[in-house]
Amino acid sequence: MSQIKDLSFLESVNKSFNLAAEAMDLPKGLARQIRTCNAVCEMKFGVELNGGYEIFTGWRATHSEHALPAKGGIRYAPFADQQEVEALAALMTYKCSIVNVPFAGSKGALSIDPKKYSLEELEHITRRFAQELDKRGLLGPGINVPAPDMGTGQRMMSWIADEYQKLHPNEINARACVTGKPVHCGGVQGRIEATGRGVQYGIQEFFRHPDDLKSANLEGNLEGKKIIVQGLGNVGYHAAKFLEEEDGALIVGIIERDGALVCEEGLSTEAVYQYKLEHGKLEGFASGRYMKKGKEALELPCDILIPAALEGVISKENAPRIQARVIAEAANGPVTFDGDKILREKGIFIIPDTYLNAGGVTVSYFEWLKNLSHVRFGRMDRRFVEAQGAKIVRLIESGIDKPLDPKAKADLLKGPDELTLVRSGLEDTMCEGYQEIKEIHSSNPKIKDRRTAAFALAIRKIADIYDSMYL
Ligand code: NAD
Repeated sequence: MSQIKDLSFLESVNKSFNLAAEAMDLPKGLARQIRTCNAVCEMKFGVELNGGYEIFTGWRATHSEHALPAKGGIRYAPFADQQEVEALAALMTYKCSIVNVPFAGSKGALSIDPKKYSLEELEHITRRFAQELDKRGLLGPGINVPAPDMGTGQRMMSWIADEYQKLHPNEINARACVTGKPVHCGGVQGRIEATGRGVQYGIQEFFRHPDDLKSANLEGNLEGKKIIVQGLGNVGYHAAKFLEEEDGALIVGIIERDGALVCEEGLSTEAVYQYKLEHGKLEGFASGRYMKKGKEALELPCDILIPAALEGVISKENAPRIQARVIAEAANGPVTFDGDKILREKGIFIIPDTYLNAGGVTVSYFEWLKNLSHVRFGRMDRRFVEAQGAKIVRLIESGIDKPLDPKAKADLLKGPDELTLVRSGLEDTMCEGYQEIKEIHSSNPKIKDRRTAAFALAIRKIADIYDSMYL
């Protein structure tokens, strides 16, 4: 047993924040104002289940209100607690700011193991939780907008939206009270995979910067790069699948709760995912080597390690043994403050969580906009764009006096649908976020790494808002 004790998740987040704030020139007290969690509410509520009552404990933290609504997921986990919720809410504030999403940060959790309850019971519990949030002013399109996180998903979001709609029948924008809903209940195309897709776009953008590649001791593109991913849930599954199937990366390791699968030639993410869905574990999968002590697979050599499960998995205990060249933080807070210091000293390039997993909130923002505008993206202009494309095709064909290549022609004739627009908006956001972080890193010699740069970027943008508000 290790005797080494790391900082808590919240302490880690605040220490990273402080490192960035110290590198900046801020008015006295402003850093503290930005860092402080504005409000956190603990709720205990009874739910009638199986002829008796069960008491549940939930939290919703509103880290900041410099922009409204406050936005952040709801997590269902047996180990959830208030400090974790506060840390996650703070990360949401910084994340929104980094990727230019005009929300402040919030986060919620319910202390529950969702696997122990039937679907009907979960619906009952979730609707009760929504009522509790609503009556405390912690739910609503203009005030506080939850989304899915660990242990929650689309179905729960649609229960929350439905409950809110019942409580506020005259609220025309009621559906915008929560994001991550199924498309037929007011959701947006591309939201389910958005965080994993954002992780892919963020890693692709890293590969577009030769100096960053060099500092990570890498070259070329994603083709053939060896990746280990921890957590084959929403984020990890989509990120690994896209990087493997679209970019040609090799998924040489997948770590789950029960253990890890490793295979130098690369695993099929889809096949492992389907196996896990059917058997609830990785053990017994047809290819690769199974390791019972899954966490040890974090320490295997690879080009990119993607922790996509939970916080604090790389600490000062195991950081000295990590061999990855890049750590792409898909989960929130997967590296502790002390672990981070060791990784940096080892020259490992970290793409920080505050930026890399912002794809979910970015597409949630698009969903919220869609709900407020009551119209699907692309509905007004798709045909128009197609007609413009047809004119261009006619002009080109008459100019070159022969038909265009059929593929080029089809591309020009196709107007954008919602999924195309969402992906394009997400890709643009992830590229811009990366470049802004890099710019602040290179322009301030006191900033030594990308995590600090990401925090500094967030602090600068929020400080500007405070500055204008309280003149
Ligand atoms: P999820 O519940 O869908 O998946 C988590 C996966 O991790 C599951 O497959 C679970 O079995 C696995 N896991 C749990 N404990 C593990 C352990 N000790 N070792 C290995 N695997 C383990 O959750 P998710 O939505 O994919 O979220 C994962 C992380 O990404 C969390 O940190 C979450 O806060 C963060 N995140 C999620 C979103 C989103 O849109 N879902 C957005 C931003 C950040």
